[in-house]
Amino acid sequence: DACFGRVPASFQLTAALDVPPFDNSSMDGYALRAADTPGRLLLVGEVAAGAGTLPDVVPGTAARIMTGAPMPPGADAIAPIEVVEEAEAEVVVPATEPGAFVRRAGHDTRAGEMVTLPEEPLTAATLGLLASLGLGELAVRRRPRVAILSTGNELRPPGAPLAAGQIHDANGIALAAAITEAGGEPVPLERTPDDAARIEQQVMRGAAEADLLVASGGVSVGRHDLVRDVIGRLGALDFWRIRMQPGKPLAFGAVRGVPVLGLPGNPVSALVTFELFARPLMRRMLGLSGGGRLTLPAVAHERMPKDQERRAYLRVRLARGTDGLEARPAGGQASSQLRPMASANALLVVPEGEPAAEAGRTYDALLLGAIG
Ligand code: AMP
Ligand code: MG
Repeated sequence: DACFGRVPASFQLTAALDVPPFDNSSMDGYALRAADTPGRLLLVGEVAAGAGTLPDVVPGTAARIMTGAPMPPGADAIAPIEVVEEAEAEVVVPATEPGAFVRRAGHDTRAGEMVTLPEEPLTAATLGLLASLGLGELAVRRRPRVAILSTGNELRPPGAPLAAGQIHDANGIALAAAITEAGGEPVPLERTPDDAARIEQQVMRGAAEADLLVASGGVSVGRHDLVRDVIGRLGALDFWRIRMQPGKPLAFGAVRGVPVLGLPGNPVSALVTFELFARPLMRRMLGLSGGGRLTLPAVAHERMPKDQERRAYLRVRLARGTDGLEARPAGGQASSQLRPMASANALLVVPEGEPAAEAGRTYDALLLGAIG
């Protein structure tokens, strides 16, 4: 269970055993010889799941058998309990085909066979599969360590009282959860004010301790936006600003070989840019590809205006309509509005160059949650 959500070190393995390991019954019923049916057979015993010693099913006989119990020697078919009449020590059995309701050893997997696992974090089904193959241990990839830095003079920890002008740090917590969800290990740094020296100190710590650093705030054009300069000074800035809404001031660079993403401070921008940039990057570090989310076509239920110049990721709720999925705004589309982000189950992708998502038109929707 410690492996749940982890990424296997290898997606290929060789089965050591047949699964199932022996011929067994897929029904509660009677094990018999098909050649004896239809007919009246003498009951010679009972085989439960897990039984080690088995009765011999000689011609003219049958043995009671339970689902998953091994086929007794001599028997080649199962007659389910529902079609058999049992009286005294005998059973009356209709015509039964050889092999009926018998699960052959190795019918799921043969010993020596190559088993390919899905290239995704381990799910319940994959863990069940690995257990059925007899694995008690599995080598998994290390989780990428992702340092989180919240910057801003105004920030106070959640739960703390606020003085004039202050707000609670929402990004620190939200990004930690997003990192965990993406298969990483969050490494919280010390929240800093808009102070270059303090930011530098934390960025250096992040670069020393983590595989990726995600900062939020301080990447825009204000006089107190210092994160970008710090990245440039301590390392190199690869790009700044991107034509998307929300998230325009995104900055990306590296310090001491560790990639650094400077996310915008507005909480919706921070989460959406994390989704589009940090998540795929973390998946690459884990040996996975893509963003790990489903994209589905969805029809805009109503007109949703956006910035003409930028590609928009509108916070929407998808629901099944008469002609497939319909997208309705989850609320206001300001990048400071977390409530619609929290209730959105998708981001509707509306291309740059268009002034709005138009009612009735189909767009890609990046699925974030379940569709009710
Ligand atoms: P900035 O990117 O620093 O210009 O911040 C943009 C907006 O996001 C401002 O209104 C900030 O107060 C807000 N903000 C910045 N960091 C956070 C944070 N960690 N949690 C919540 N809001 C934030
Ligand atoms: Mg700021």
